[in-house]
Amino acid sequence: MNVTRVLENYIGGAWSRSSGTTLLDVKNPATGEVLAQVPLSTAGDVDTAVKAARAAFPAWRATPPAVRARYLFKLREVLDAHREEIAAICTSEHGKTLSESRNDFGRGIENVEHAAGIPTLMMGQNLEDVATAIDCQTIRQPLGVFAAITPFNFPPMVPLWFLPYAIATGNTFVLKPSEQVPLTQRRIFELIQSIGLPPGVLNLVNGGKDVVNGLCTHPDVAGVSFVGSSSVALHVYRTAAEHGKRVQALGGAKNFIVVLPDANRERAIANVAESIYGCSGQRCLAGSMIVGVGEAYEWVREALHEAARAIVLGDGSKPGVTMGPVVSAAAKDRILSCIEQGTREGARLTLDGRGATVEGCPNGNWIGPSIFEDVQPGMSVATEEIFGPVACLMRAQSLDEAIAAANRSRYGNAASVYTTSGKAARQFHNQIEAGMVGVNIGVAAPMAFFPFGGQKASFYGDTKAHGPTAIDFYTERKVVITRWF
Ligand code: NAD
Repeated sequence: MNVTRVLENYIGGAWSRSSGTTLLDVKNPATGEVLAQVPLSTAGDVDTAVKAARAAFPAWRATPPAVRARYLFKLREVLDAHREEIAAICTSEHGKTLSESRNDFGRGIENVEHAAGIPTLMMGQNLEDVATAIDCQTIRQPLGVFAAITPFNFPPMVPLWFLPYAIATGNTFVLKPSEQVPLTQRRIFELIQSIGLPPGVLNLVNGGKDVVNGLCTHPDVAGVSFVGSSSVALHVYRTAAEHGKRVQALGGAKNFIVVLPDANRERAIANVAESIYGCSGQRCLAGSMIVGVGEAYEWVREALHEAARAIVLGDGSKPGVTMGPVVSAAAKDRILSCIEQGTREGARLTLDGRGATVEGCPNGNWIGPSIFEDVQPGMSVATEEIFGPVACLMRAQSLDEAIAAANRSRYGNAASVYTTSGKAARQFHNQIEAGMVGVNIGVAAPMAFFPFGGQKASFYGDTKAHGPTAIDFYTERKVVITRWF
């Protein structure tokens, strides 16, 4: 008999069964195979994990930063040694290609590397003689237990935007990974177990909204990081803030890419197509609205159709495949209904990926690359996040008109411009309402040592993820004013 594995939580340095009785199947999106079952843990499980983290805090806080950094060196080594294994697990539960999974994990590891610089990153400031014989200093101190709640689309990377900085700064931590892709973090936590951290410093609780609400309201949680859709981001922001916590809540996106007539055509199109269809469009930095300015519209539309037709759809673990399935049957239905709504509103579907099939994989969640033309500013496909392999093409007569169209969006995650004009590029990054801007870059993803986060409905809070802002989020600046008689 084939018994499906039920995933456990990792609390206080040991694996334990969740008290939740509801189990969800974790499926391979390319084959439909059930890989494991994930429990929906309860508020009681959250309490156990937070108590373990709280108990570990005093000793961990007192551990010298250089010693904490050594655990991160060990973590980096063990993660680096398992790159291929983690990439394969990521592809099996998410569907993205192996090369996309490798990049996903690689970007996560970079955060561990950056956080290992904590002895210098966490330094305070001081000034002698702020008044006669009086000195002043700021010191950075950890706050206690932090939690992170993460989405399905970057199973290894997004948790690593938070976990390394939280513990490097001397806090303890509880992760709630997406219930759709819990296997990648399951394996990463097994590797974490091997580095010998004190029990309770890092904890993992599987589940869904009960765990989220439990973390956002627990009196012993000092702060919450969230990444996911805007409606849940706003809920987490409000709930956690109402309960006195620090919050950074990264939401959804509708990213505009503006192509000017003077752009380098060949380089631009390959890059734009990768932005739209990479990870099957399930990326918060994916280009979604492509605005061709003036004559650029014609060559962009032609070249984009050609690039989209060259994409090889299939099981992401197979060589030669350049685009995998979408994550679930529910995601597929949602994307199909966005496409239907777009056609009802009058956008022209000039490349239709709806009927796509993949030989040998009848149970996969397939949607082929799709393209809408003649998209108008008020249409739902121009305003709502589709989060699938669908490009929406819009015409504009000028850069001003393109920027105005982009700034009408309620989202402000990322935006890109393709041009050879420095003046146009400057106007774009000066005026565009987006947190991350690409100039001839289709996926404007900041490296670990820069802040990550959007504006407007793409971000609730004021301290962005990773980079120097992570140190701000995870520490309190205390001011000490000293006089010796
Ligand atoms: P989601 O909002 O459905 O889920 C995110 C997390 O919230 C999961 O852990 C889930 O368990 C939990 N959750 C879901 N519904 C909830 C509810 N009603 N109450 C409490 N918790 C709930 O998002 P997703 O589908 O996993 O991920 C895709 C979304 O994430 C997209 O909107 C994408 O743009 C966004 N995203 C944003 C960024 C960014 O940096 N801004 C990065 C990655 C993904």
